Amino acid sequence: MAQWIDGAALAQQVRETVKQRVAEMTRQLHRPVYLTAVLVGGTAAGELYAQRQRDACKAVGIEYELITLPHDADKEMVSRRIKQLNEDAAVTGIMLHLPLPEHLNATELQYQINPVKDVEGVNPANIGYVVYGQTLIAPCTALAAIELIKSTGVPIRGAEAVVVGASQIAGRPIALLLSEQMATVTLCHIATRDLAAHTRRAEILVVAVGKPNLITADHVKEGALVIDVGINRITLPDGTKKTVGDVDFAAVEPKAAYITPVPGGVGPMTVAMLLRNTLRSAELLSR
Ligand code: NAP
Repeated sequence: MAQWIDGAALAQQVRETVKQRVAEMTRQLHRPVYLTAVLVGGTAAGELYAQRQRDACKAVGIEYELITLPHDADKEMVSRRIKQLNEDAAVTGIMLHLPLPEHLNATELQYQINPVKDVEGVNPANIGYVVYGQTLIAPCTALAAIELIKSTGVPIRGAEAVVVGASQIAGRPIALLLSEQMATVTLCHIATRDLAAHTRRAEILVVAVGKPNLITADHVKEGALVIDVGINRITLPDGTKKTVGDVDFAAVEPKAAYITPVPGGVGPMTVAMLLRNTLRSAELLSR
């Protein structure tokens, strides 16, 4: 039976370390570590998410400011705001809430965030630094997956690692970070012909697709370490809603050596990595 990797407990440890360091930085800088988030078109879901972020920041001593721009804000308006934030010395971190309204291109706007203030690690320059093995600030979900793997003590160096899902935000950066840590990495995607043939070889299996039960016991090697990044809301036959990952947890748990639950695995750790990246931005700016 797999040992659960407790993302909530590990995230709490990260938050405590971040809190101490934020207090030191605040004393050293004589001003707060300051994260500004930009939300274009304030939906109820977006504002709830921002409120949770504000609470998470507050708990570790990070000042949080939310700038809400109108739904019809054009590219120039959002760009101007990002430029102001780049130039504002009081702002140590910037993030752009996704999804954006359809008329805006997320990559184009993320590209304009100063890479040092880019707390989500989404500026192409930051992805590029990961490729060159000189990581400045990496994407939060990818960092979360790596931290959870490291917490088990299973060596990454030399391991057969398979990542399923190849998005810019999750799968690809996870594959890059695993390769930076010297795993032998296979990146599976929608065009992969025989998914199970690849995943069955994995000592470390990371799944980031968004499809419940994509990974069954047949896909998993005995004794594998399984990280489930997926978050899916499903409706059970009795009509109740439930959050599940991409892995058929009940079927895979007996076969794996380690597994992340959903919820309580990658999710809380991703939030903790955002806080850690926000601290890192302030540290980089203070050098
Ligand atoms: P995404 O942008 O939709 O990417 C999913 C990726 O999986 C795409 O590359 C897609 O390829 C690929 N894919 C689709 N079907 C596949 C299949 N059958 N086999 C292999 N690959 C397949 O989603 P995302 O943003 O990466 O998120 C993935 C999941 O992780 C979602 O459930 C999301 O909610 C969750 N997530 C969780 C966290 C967290 O903190 N825990 C953070 C971010 C995301 P195509 O694009 O070619 O279809």
